[in-house]
Amino acid sequence: MAIPARDIVKGPPELKGLTRGALEQLFLLLGEKKYRAHQLYDALYINRLESIDEMVVLPAALRASLSETYRMQSVALQQIQHSDDGTKKFLFELYDGRSIESVLIPTEKLDDAGKPYRLTLCVSTQVGCNLGCKFCATATLNLARNLTAGEIVDQYLQAQAHSEEKITNLVFMGMGEPMQNYDNVMAAVEIFTDQRTDMIVPRRVTISTAGLIPGIMRMADEGKLIKLAVSLHATTQGVREKLMPIAKKYTLSQLGDALEYYYRKTHKGVTFEYILFDGLNDGPDDVKRLAKLARRFPSRINIIPFHQIDFTAPVGFAAELRPTPPDRFEWFLAQLRAEGANVIVRSSSGLDIDAACGQLALSGGH
Ligand code: SF4
Repeated sequence: MAIPARDIVKGPPELKGLTRGALEQLFLLLGEKKYRAHQLYDALYINRLESIDEMVVLPAALRASLSETYRMQSVALQQIQHSDDGTKKFLFELYDGRSIESVLIPTEKLDDAGKPYRLTLCVSTQVGCNLGCKFCATATLNLARNLTAGEIVDQYLQAQAHSEEKITNLVFMGMGEPMQNYDNVMAAVEIFTDQRTDMIVPRRVTISTAGLIPGIMRMADEGKLIKLAVSLHATTQGVREKLMPIAKKYTLSQLGDALEYYYRKTHKGVTFEYILFDGLNDGPDDVKRLAKLARRFPSRINIIPFHQIDFTAPVGFAAELRPTPPDRFEWFLAQLRAEGANVIVRSSSGLDIDAACGQLALSGGH
């Protein structure tokens, strides 16, 4: 998939974001031994050192030459906002002065040691987004550029450094559409899921897409071990087009076929994200159609309450969107379950700091 040309960041190249293979290649070009590349890899992602000077395992001359050419920091932490429910929202400044956000969400449920059962980091993949989903605050920012692999990996490194507990899950559901930045996202995934880095196991990494079929097909063909989630939000082509303009290019019918292909190739199920909107996608026919789609392959449906994005001053159709009232919300869940669907309700963690689903917009996401 083509990556927009504007993802190029001026300035010294980054070390973070380089995979083990990429570092080997780089050191080959520099005339350095392969094991030196492995030492740098360990320093970046296992020891998680923050400066080249600290990498005393490397010879001084090599450290000096790396320092002259490369930079270590990919994102600079500007602010952490704390929610009453334990969620943290991180604001990062990028090398070109732009900003992005990540959200760290603990589960309410605690384990035997009194720690959160899961700690999930939601990372951004682009600065802004050009897909224009009507319910999403990030859409109001437009797309500035793709994030580099280093900027994606560094969101994790910085968030982990500011968390007492180990991050257990990673979701690509922050600002941006991951499939539009496929190569950088997958380079970051390779680092995250490398056993040596002890970051995240593949089955606990989820890529969430608005339904970009070429990316889904590529994930299927490459046999990725990570999980796939799809922002569905409608059961008819007409409603989906209104909510998510990208549906005009990749139709609901084509999306269903692509997901079936994905399942046949990977033997992995799919998670559907479904925000309930009052009177728009929460009727009896929607229940039937959603359950029918979910039966085509193993799947789970995440039902998500709509979080108002009034702080972005939405206009037109976006301004008309309202959350489904609580009694109808419960009715919809019960009906879907009665149809045999595997349904869970996504929590509204971080709502008080505008960090809930769809609210990341730099005071956005899937
Ligand atoms: S929901 Fe995701 S794809 Fe849609 S506009 Fe927001 S960030 Fe972009």
